[in-house]
Amino acid sequence: MTDFTSYLQQSNLIGGAWVGADSGKTIDVTNPATGEVIGTVPNCGAEESNRAIAAASDAFRSWSKTDLLYRVKLLQGLHDALMDNQEALALLLTTEQGKPLFEARGEIAICAAYVRWFAEEIRRAKGEIVPSPSQDRRLLVTRHPVGVVGAITPWNFPSSMLARKLGPALAAGCTVVAKPATATPYSGLAWGKLCEEVGFPAGVVNIVTGSARAIGGAIMESPEIRKVTFTGSTEIGKQLIRQSAATVKKVSMELGGNAPFIVFDDADLDAAVEGAMIAKFRNMGQTCVCTNRFYVQSGIHDAFVAKLKEATAALVVGNGVEEGVQQGPMIDMAAVEKVEEFISDAIGKGATIVEGGKRHGNGGTFFEPTVVTGATADMAFATEEIFGPLAAVFKFEEEDEAIAAANATDFGLAAYAYTRDVGRVFRLNDGLEYGLIGINAGLITTVEAPFGGLKESGMGKEGGSQGLDDYLETKYVCVAGV
Ligand code: ADP
Repeated sequence: MTDFTSYLQQSNLIGGAWVGADSGKTIDVTNPATGEVIGTVPNCGAEESNRAIAAASDAFRSWSKTDLLYRVKLLQGLHDALMDNQEALALLLTTEQGKPLFEARGEIAICAAYVRWFAEEIRRAKGEIVPSPSQDRRLLVTRHPVGVVGAITPWNFPSSMLARKLGPALAAGCTVVAKPATATPYSGLAWGKLCEEVGFPAGVVNIVTGSARAIGGAIMESPEIRKVTFTGSTEIGKQLIRQSAATVKKVSMELGGNAPFIVFDDADLDAAVEGAMIAKFRNMGQTCVCTNRFYVQSGIHDAFVAKLKEATAALVVGNGVEEGVQQGPMIDMAAVEKVEEFISDAIGKGATIVEGGKRHGNGGTFFEPTVVTGATADMAFATEEIFGPLAAVFKFEEEDEAIAAANATDFGLAAYAYTRDVGRVFRLNDGLEYGLIGINAGLITTVEAPFGGLKESGMGKEGGSQGLDDYLETKYVCVAGV
């Protein structure tokens, strides 16, 4: 089997050196499928973070002035290094995170695609010459790297969430201090190793692991960090937005979701079930764009539920590294308990379990892929994010009713709908208060399109031509006396 040890970095990258915590303290990293300890990472805090920020700040002075084609070439090298080591990086990802290996391979491939995309996009990051109101003046709008970037990433996509931030930051000429999630630090640290191998200068990419509060605190307090990009919970995101006020940092926030998935009577049933399976059970339901609520029109409801039950029952649950496995373990026991609470809350309010519903026979944090029907608006999952392998099915009658129900949440990240009515597609586009809308598609993320939420799901876009904007400052220069 492929070996990931050459990318298992058990120290932090600060100013071009691989170092431990000042205290010498470490944190164990475990494999959620087996409970075994994979290794340790430094338990760093504010001191080490401040050194990383200083290194990034130093490096910014030269990196931000490098030739564009030099940065593009390094990014192309990074793309190739990711793809050349896809198997090892995917195995490392599955080992620390749990997702099936085929999903981890896909995640590494999309990482490489993001890096390539931003290497291409930066060459088109044009400014403007604006018509001047008078002959003796010329008005120029120019774009510049925003400065040192703090990047805080979650455990569910430990590699690709960093790719979306590092890609545009490095392309734009920014330097980075990254803090990967404590549960999955190795995929983040591997980026440090890759960047080093490819030839990025010391201090351009720094990666610190340890106390979220201390590292996050140092990043948020530092006047040298000009931008913070965060993917994680709405609760922590709000806290970071508040903290950003003291130094007026730019912030990009990819926060929680509560995706509706609407199936209309005129939908292609098989396509809808296929899309539902991807949108619900990918990464064991632990993505911010995973379906939280299925709204199924009454005419197709029973047929959809029957097929969804059948497909859910057929999912192969096991250790993600094993061939054929489609559902790995959940990230930790707290995640399992949260799903159990959603199920018991729903059952207490009249829902019915039609598939699964309990911990899986594999033990540990494995959970049975579950379907419940008879869901209603008073159940907790109607407004809260499930983040687990639980499909909740609501029944509806009219289009307006479905759109109103879909919007009845503080979140606004992803929404899905299956219909063959073209007029309805446009009504959905107008009516759904969501930043990402999949029509007849359950998986829509792609590097070419802007990913980002409305309402409390966040601000800023990742990917697409828009994905660079947050890493570039706009300056206006007026040249008079021409
Ligand atoms: P999740 O539920 O996906 O873990 P969190 O918002 O808790 O979402 O965590 C996402 C990332 O934010 C992780 O890297 C985590 O360590 C970090 N984090 C958690 N708390 C804080 C905090 N107070 N300040 C900065 N970062 C934090």
